[in-house]
Amino acid sequence: MSELDILIFAPHPDDAEIGMAGSILLWAKEGARIGIVDLTRGELGTKGDVESRAQEAEEASRLLGLALRENLDLGDGRLIDDESNREKIANRIRMHRPRVVFVTPDFDRHPDHEAANKLVKAAFFLARLPKYHGDERAHSVNAWYNYFIHDMHRVSFVVDITSVWAQKVEVLKAYRSQFVEGEVPDGYRYVGTSDYLRQLEAYSQYLGAKIGVERGEGFYAPAPLKVRNVLDIIP
Ligand SMILES: [Zn+2]
Repeated sequence: MSELDILIFAPHPDDAEIGMAGSILLWAKEGARIGIVDLTRGELGTKGDVESRAQEAEEASRLLGLALRENLDLGDGRLIDDESNREKIANRIRMHRPRVVFVTPDFDRHPDHEAANKLVKAAFFLARLPKYHGDERAHSVNAWYNYFIHDMHRVSFVVDITSVWAQKVEVLKAYRSQFVEGEVPDGYRYVGTSDYLRQLEAYSQYLGAKIGVERGEGFYAPAPLKVRNVLDIIP
């Protein structure tokens, strides 16, 4: 059993890194114990295969300084919000006892990303109920937030990741099959994998511009944020 500060649920290996590797690097450096639970193995991904993606996730975890990484193998492209999956995720929350949970938002073009949101939202609630599966390890998470992969039209706060942008790119490049190695099928949306890195760079600049810095990662807060002094949060 581990006790984490932050537990991040990722529909596919590399989603957590795309959305928030910079924030993970910053917070881990400050001593936070951070874990990632991948919900699927990404077996339907156009590029790479299950074995290479598992090795890549291991390498990325090392670069991020994660306290924990595991994969629930719930089925790429088949992720659904049902009782069995809710229970598995609630169990991970009870086992790892994080203070804060992150997952993809419910506004995303990939159905697995939206399903992950629904699952984690339900598990976040159920994990705290002692009578849910009669488990005395019930655990209340303080807050849950969403990180962005494709759509970022609802931004509640932005983390300045300018100082760790180069490191984030190295973490992404650990996913060689996704970001470095070249071949993509005819008609694939991007001309080459480096295009995807350029797109992520543009997103980071867009989000950074919202708070007046070079690079940012944005997050959505489903519930209001607690503020003690408004002077602490001015950009
Ligand atoms: Zn994904």
